[in-house]
Amino acid sequence: MKNIVTSLLMAVLLALVPTAQAWAAETFTLVLDAGHGGRDPGALGKRGKEKNINLAVTLAVGKLVEQNIKDVKVVYTRKTDVFIELDERAAIANRAKADLFVSIHTNALPRGAQGKGSETYTLGMHRAADNLAVAKRENSAIMLERDYENRYEGFDPKSAESYIIFEFMQDKNMEQSVKLATMIQRQFRSAGRPDKGVHQAGFLVLRATSMPSCLVELGYITTAAEENYLLSERGVNELANSIYQAIKKYKESIQ
Ligand SMILES: [Zn+2]
Repeated sequence: MKNIVTSLLMAVLLALVPTAQAWAAETFTLVLDAGHGGRDPGALGKRGKEKNINLAVTLAVGKLVEQNIKDVKVVYTRKTDVFIELDERAAIANRAKADLFVSIHTNALPRGAQGKGSETYTLGMHRAADNLAVAKRENSAIMLERDYENRYEGFDPKSAESYIIFEFMQDKNMEQSVKLATMIQRQFRSAGRPDKGVHQAGFLVLRATSMPSCLVELGYITTAAEENYLLSERGVNELANSIYQAIKKYKESIQ
């Protein structure tokens, strides 16, 4: 009887060991945030919707990380076409005690304007009207949320005055965030994407996260050649690979 109990105990312990190892080895938590979703399509192109491009690239980045960097735990704010509030996206990252937060979006321009290339944002005060326009468009997603006026304490995503709060904000993760953003842009450049640079602007989703974070604008859905690229398998894979390479290098640089 004693032998049976001992054998059973051993079997239970052996079964637990791989789980414990896998758990202990996941020392770095990455949150990937596919912008928009569900009733919020994001920017619209002629054929595509921003939410779908963001999700395709996000899932491809996650897959590359999961397959190639063993000690990273990937958490997704969404893996399907669902609506998630901006503050909940940040809360998911904070609850997961994430080490890094990357939000993935697609850019758009007013009718008649053409754009080409990728850019990455960190949280801060915009220095150019173009950057404020991007933050205004992305933050406007909250207007599809129930009771957004109270949730975001009267923040009006469309009013320039609302963005003054970002000027006086202290962000302890600024340096690391800029480092990651710079690495992402470097990878885009070496993959042949036009480099639209690293910028700062007041993104609500970045304001509420308590870890290094940035927001990527993959390309311009409102420019025909760009939309074709964003909707192509090659485009999705190249963009995802650049972001993956940057995350890998960032992680190596801090460990
Ligand atoms: Zn967006």
